[in-house]
Amino acid sequence: MSQAPPIAAIATPPGRGGIGIVRVSGGNLAPLIEGMAGRALPPRVATRIVFRDAHGAAIDDGIALHFPAPHSYTGEDVVEWHGHGGVAVMRLLLARCVELGARLAEPGEFTKRAFLNGKLDLAQAESVADVIEASTATAVRAAARSLTGEFSREVNALRDALVDLRMYAEATLDFPDEDIELLKEGDVAQRLAAIRERLARLLARARGGALLRTGMTIVLVGAPNVGKSSLLNRLVGDDAAIVTPIPGTTRDTIERPIEIGGVPLTVIDTAGLRHTDDEVERHGIARTRTAIGRADLALVLVDARDDRRGVATDTPFAELPPTLPRIVVHNKCDLAFDDAHVERYAAALDEPQRAADETAEATHVWLCALTGHGVPLLEGEMLRIAGASHGTEDAFFARARHFAALADANAHLEQAAEQLRYGNATLELFAEELRVAQTAFSAITGEFTADDLLGEIFSRFCIGK
Ligand code: GDP
Repeated sequence: MSQAPPIAAIATPPGRGGIGIVRVSGGNLAPLIEGMAGRALPPRVATRIVFRDAHGAAIDDGIALHFPAPHSYTGEDVVEWHGHGGVAVMRLLLARCVELGARLAEPGEFTKRAFLNGKLDLAQAESVADVIEASTATAVRAAARSLTGEFSREVNALRDALVDLRMYAEATLDFPDEDIELLKEGDVAQRLAAIRERLARLLARARGGALLRTGMTIVLVGAPNVGKSSLLNRLVGDDAAIVTPIPGTTRDTIERPIEIGGVPLTVIDTAGLRHTDDEVERHGIARTRTAIGRADLALVLVDARDDRRGVATDTPFAELPPTLPRIVVHNKCDLAFDDAHVERYAAALDEPQRAADETAEATHVWLCALTGHGVPLLEGEMLRIAGASHGTEDAFFARARHFAALADANAHLEQAAEQLRYGNATLELFAEELRVAQTAFSAITGEFTADDLLGEIFSRFCIGK
């Protein structure tokens, strides 16, 4: 076990709370424990002690937990001092640890040591930060799947299958008459296809996780008074935006985080896009354009009563980038329900219409923001467009780094399959594609990882983790 110098940090968030914890990890903590507690501590048992300063005066009265190496989070000697959760008392305990030989831990340093001592692989270590940062319950579960090693196991299973295949391919290389045709005789193609299929499933689950991580930005656009603020309030569930019947009330953009099906979404309510002489409103419209620029999806609100006159004339399609996905929301269906139209709207409220007007390749949804009728339908459409209609329940909270490595492995396996299919390459090239793909898998779990990457990953952790 490493004789790493002790590091110490306050592990609980700053501020006032019932309990605060100072954590220390190092090669040998016996002298530090003796200094703080006045005696040795039994392993893995909560022991009540008085924490004392250098002069023997009490700092606090609390609980100590000692995890001797190697059975600890970091794999080193770890001690936790559970005191009262006040800013000053925590600082005093930390200062006492430093006095006794520890130095202040850097962000993520405990987890980095856990990785270096083989307690966690790199993907698991990263997921520690992800569990802490996760903003929705679904995201927590996705990150926890990585933390408990489910993601790493999938990656390792792929790597192992690839190693087997490589061994076979490289053994064939030893034949003097090396020829890619040789590989066709074995079940190499089927084995490669099975690996690629498994990788495709893993990529899909990672994609769902990427959505949980980054969420999606949705912009609400439409003529003034069409019901944008009302819809935002419906989606958010409170009175975030001011709703009035006077056109132009929403002069600025309002952003609200919401969660649909576990996916974190940011909804931006915008000022209308009409021409105006009002200076303040003009600013609002400029901001609308900025909001549109960073959106992943636009909800274009129109008044359902305009349907009768054909396509709404002031639909601001022209303002939207052509590639931006959009849902046309026909609001105020309650007002559009009259004898002549009741059947049409009753049907429309039951399912989104993807046909009708194909000009802008938009989905059409009819609803009533005032009562909420039809809003779940809109939410379902939003998830569908986000790519989460099959749910995010089995997603892996993969990071961009993991995603890039999986995509890289995928590209090389595709190359290998091509070579096999057309027999247009040498065995060496085929084996080389497999080797590079294997390296990509190994990089995810940190089998081969450059020091600077480790520095980059752990520097983003909070201190004390
Ligand atoms: P915005 O300017 O587009 O943000 O529109 P608001 O949300 O402020 O709504 C303008 C007016 O339309 C308000 O008086 C709302 O109560 C009303 N409104 C919004 N949605 C509906 C709806 O579905 N039905 C009816 N009857 N009125 C609505």
